[in-house]
Amino acid sequence: MDKKFISTPSRTKEILETFGLRAKKGFGQNFLVDPIIVERAARESHCQGAVIEIGPGIGSLTEQLAIYSRHVTAYEIDPDLPEVLAETLKDYDNVEVILQDFMDIDLGEKVKELKEKYGSVVVCSNLPYYITTPILFKIFEQGKDIPYITVMVQKEVGDRFAASPNDPQYGALSVEGQYLYDVKKLFNVPGRSFNPSPDVDSAIIQFRRREDADLSIDLEKFFAFVRACFKQRRKTIYNNVKDYTGNAGQAKAAIEKAGLKPGQRAQELTAAEIKRIYLSL
Ligand code: SAM
Repeated sequence: MDKKFISTPSRTKEILETFGLRAKKGFGQNFLVDPIIVERAARESHCQGAVIEIGPGIGSLTEQLAIYSRHVTAYEIDPDLPEVLAETLKDYDNVEVILQDFMDIDLGEKVKELKEKYGSVVVCSNLPYYITTPILFKIFEQGKDIPYITVMVQKEVGDRFAASPNDPQYGALSVEGQYLYDVKKLFNVPGRSFNPSPDVDSAIIQFRRREDADLSIDLEKFFAFVRACFKQRRKTIYNNVKDYTGNAGQAKAAIEKAGLKPGQRAQELTAAEIKRIYLSL
């Protein structure tokens, strides 16, 4: 094939030079320059219907998503990039680029529209690292019809999401993610796969929505409780729950009613166990 994918280092360099672009740190821009990784991320993202991408950059991942899916909707915050994307993605007629901060969009509405048209909607993105958790929580809260979220994140953040009870990285982020999703790390990505190389290692993780996740509870309140359970990691669950409720007797009774011991620590408990305490309160 004559055509070089956008994610090849030479094509990326050429695009950046042609448009006089430099990666903007403030927008968390690190462009992927590793065709094997980009192709694999798209292929494993379950994007056969529609796919939403946050931050297409100059289009390297977008291009592979366009190849594997029926439709790509890509939200980009940088006003310099739509013009570039119109050129780099001109061979693909199934890509819609929207110049908008992803944090401002009505995700539920967009997912509904795409699902009606294309049958399924997933998310696949190389996330801007300065805003990884707010973006993921927005998807968690508004994306109940998104069965798969495949994202590049800092390795350390990926390890926290994927950690199991008793792992050193296990914490509030693990419980919140695992309450709604099965989380698995697909693979690590070395710094040399980006232009410019970030200071941290990266990983691609995948969230698969759990069909048994109980959505009848107020997620925001439950997640606030989860954070309270891990507030002082060295303290027992009893002490943290007592601080949360302000009532020692109520805290002890709720933990025991959940079939757990007040002397346990939050790091030992699964998302389901923490939810039992929450419901007992
Ligand atoms: N997808 C490209 C790639 O893999 O080469 C670029 C990834 S780069 C890590 C993150 C992208 O997200 C940048 O293009 C940046 O401008 C964009 N971005 C940053 N904050 C954003 C936001 N709040 N909403 C939408 N896009 C954003």
